[in-house]
Amino acid sequence: MKKLQTEKCYLCGSKNIIDKGYRLRDNKDLKVLECRNCSLVFLSSFEHINKDFYKSGKMHSQMLDPQIWLDVSKTDDERRFKLLKNKIQNKKILDFGCGAGGFLILSKNIAHADGVEEQESLTTFFQKNKLTVFNSINSLNSKYDIITMFHVLEHLKDPKNVIIKLLEYLKDDGELIIEVPNEDDALLTLYKCKPFANFTHWSCHLFCFNKQTLKKLFEEMGLKINYIKPIQRYGLANHLYWVIKGQKGGHLKWAFLNKFDIIYKNILKIIGKSDTLIISISKRNKTTI
Ligand SMILES: [Zn+2]
Repeated sequence: MKKLQTEKCYLCGSKNIIDKGYRLRDNKDLKVLECRNCSLVFLSSFEHINKDFYKSGKMHSQMLDPQIWLDVSKTDDERRFKLLKNKIQNKKILDFGCGAGGFLILSKNIAHADGVEEQESLTTFFQKNKLTVFNSINSLNSKYDIITMFHVLEHLKDPKNVIIKLLEYLKDDGELIIEVPNEDDALLTLYKCKPFANFTHWSCHLFCFNKQTLKKLFEEMGLKINYIKPIQRYGLANHLYWVIKGQKGGHLKWAFLNKFDIIYKNILKIIGKSDTLIISISKRNKTTI
């Protein structure tokens, strides 16, 4: 019998917890729960993520070839690089949970860019591409100006603990930049699309954050939030396809709708229903001039 994490909310300690009624795409035994007090969404058990889960590459079993992984993450890697290009110029940066290193490969031309990635099978690939990637936080040995975490926070069993460890390697005037999927995604909270809810929630997303819970997490740790910005990765065709057909891939199948994306994506960002959030955090003792 799997232990339920229903006793109390990780973030606020409330015991007022409900079952969202979603089915996970890859695990029928787990439930998606929500704290009624602070709106944190989390899985009913974390026990399926054991110590070696990420090390052995179980999360990305379909992407054991790093080149395929890079192809899949290309659009996101390029978007992130474009967004942070000016900020990271000539800086020392660390990408925590760097996957196949797509963001590092782009960044290393303009910055000192290191990574942390637990998946052991990638080591040779990193060496071949002359990337410095540590296999755990414990192997780090210097401080960084900027630490990034792209779609990693939601995978952590104890996010606060990992952040505390990472902050040891962040310079006092440094910045932590974290991107997560948004649980207030329009498909979930506006269109209430059940097939999408059952697809997007999976056994590796232990926590699902929205703007409020993300803010609360870092405020309670005594950190300074510089900004929380919305990002919309998917467009109108993808959303309509989910709502009408209940399936992914609409952005490829109904690509003629992509011309509306600039307006549609902006509206979703304005009304707080974007699919992604990016947060910038600093240490409190940062000197402000
Ligand atoms: Zn809560």
